[in-house]
Amino acid sequence: MSTDQNKFQAIISHCKEYGFVFQSSEIYDGLSAVYDYGQYGSELKKNIKDYWWKSMTQLHEDIVGIDAAIFMHPTTWKASGHVDNFSDPMIDNKDSNKRYRVDHLIEGYAETLPTEAGEALLAQMDELLKENDFAGLKTLIESNKIKCTVSGTVNWTEVRQFNLMFSTQLGSVTDEASEIYLRPETAQGIFVNFLNVQKTGRMKVPFGIAQIGKAFRNEIVARQFIFRMREFEQMEMQFFVRPGTQQEWYEKWKEERMQWHLSLGIDPAKYHFKDHIKLAHYADAAVDIEYEFPFGFKEVEGIHSRTDFDLKQHQEYSKKKIQYFDTEINQNYVPYVIETSIGLDRMFLLTICNAYAEEDLSTPEKADSRVVLRLPAKLAPVKLAIFPLTKKEGLPELARELMNDCKSAFYCFYEEKDAIGRRYRRQDAIGTPFCVTIDHQTKEDGTVTIRHRDSMEQERIPLSEVKALVLNKIS
Ligand code: ATP
Repeated sequence: MSTDQNKFQAIISHCKEYGFVFQSSEIYDGLSAVYDYGQYGSELKKNIKDYWWKSMTQLHEDIVGIDAAIFMHPTTWKASGHVDNFSDPMIDNKDSNKRYRVDHLIEGYAETLPTEAGEALLAQMDELLKENDFAGLKTLIESNKIKCTVSGTVNWTEVRQFNLMFSTQLGSVTDEASEIYLRPETAQGIFVNFLNVQKTGRMKVPFGIAQIGKAFRNEIVARQFIFRMREFEQMEMQFFVRPGTQQEWYEKWKEERMQWHLSLGIDPAKYHFKDHIKLAHYADAAVDIEYEFPFGFKEVEGIHSRTDFDLKQHQEYSKKKIQYFDTEINQNYVPYVIETSIGLDRMFLLTICNAYAEEDLSTPEKADSRVVLRLPAKLAPVKLAIFPLTKKEGLPELARELMNDCKSAFYCFYEEKDAIGRRYRRQDAIGTPFCVTIDHQTKEDGTVTIRHRDSMEQERIPLSEVKALVLNKIS
């Protein structure tokens, strides 16, 4: 096992041990590829969500937000193409009955080859995927003798398409009930509300609609922790533009989204763009923002130029005119769309992977180490931990006063138990950027010790300045 894989395993354990992420229904042995966020995980997730929401809506006068329902009229998914096209080519191993996504199976094998041979194989695969050549893909797997990881054999079925949407019944009486889907993306809730928002908000093209919400996909190969889940959350924005201007807006959003990632202080070398080789049925250009996870560069966000496909499809299927009258050019048209779509859970995983560090603090006298989450202060679940040095002599009262003053402004944590050093380490492990200790000197001169997570430096500052200092760092 490589060091990076070890690191990833350590991150998964850390997420559980410190209340960030739990396997869903763990007491029943869990549900595959479904996860729950714990006390600190839900805070971190909410902070990422708020950061995205604010930067998309509040900071963009031309973008507004909505919150559409998960259930939608079933025709939505006919119109969007998901009923017919939202599928991945799969192959089963006849001996183990294990099912693989064809691209994942070939990619996994390519990683074991020398770089040039691996790249050549992936180029062949991309070509076949682009042509939807399933027989060719099967031949490629067989001619390379790619084995099933469970049975170790090359006894494969034909390559087949497998739809990723979950369906359920709406209505209580079975024969009256109609089949509906759990949405596999949030985007369609935006498209079907285009006219509602444009008219009631008196929006002028170009403008955008943002949304955060759950999406569901019956992923076949669901591994790598919360990277690929069956129930997950997306943060999507559809930007409606005048036809012919989509290329320029696509470039602008590519740049702007990358800047958003970098604004979190993440090393730019950890990111790159990857153009799509096989474009989705609705797109005329598409790129992924990939981040270097411990298991390699992988997609965290997609930017897609979706043309006028979606609005035109909904116009056709609903038989309602979905058009915009552009007063500047005196023309009616169906707007083109640039989409930015980021997985909230993937961004969460990225944030944790980027922040997680195991540090050796040993001195010649003493072996020592710590695990620290170097989270951006604005995303950290707890912003300030407040520790009275002892449980007596009026120190808890002073600490409580500070807590009461700060807790309406940001998330604080109060603790009296254990030696200060151990309390610091527990806060390091959940990424708390600041700890304040109230000691006897506080009673004399009104100063406290503030300890900085990353440098572990401690300084004395007036108690009255603590709140402003933290607010300044998290704003
Ligand atoms: P992938 O190729 O990894 O399956 P995708 O290209 O199908 O992803 P999109 O349909 O573009 O993904 O969805 C937009 C974003 O939603 C992705 O960039 C990703 O961050 C997130 N996402 C998609 N599927 C999942 C999933 N199963 N679990 C968690 N996040 C997901």
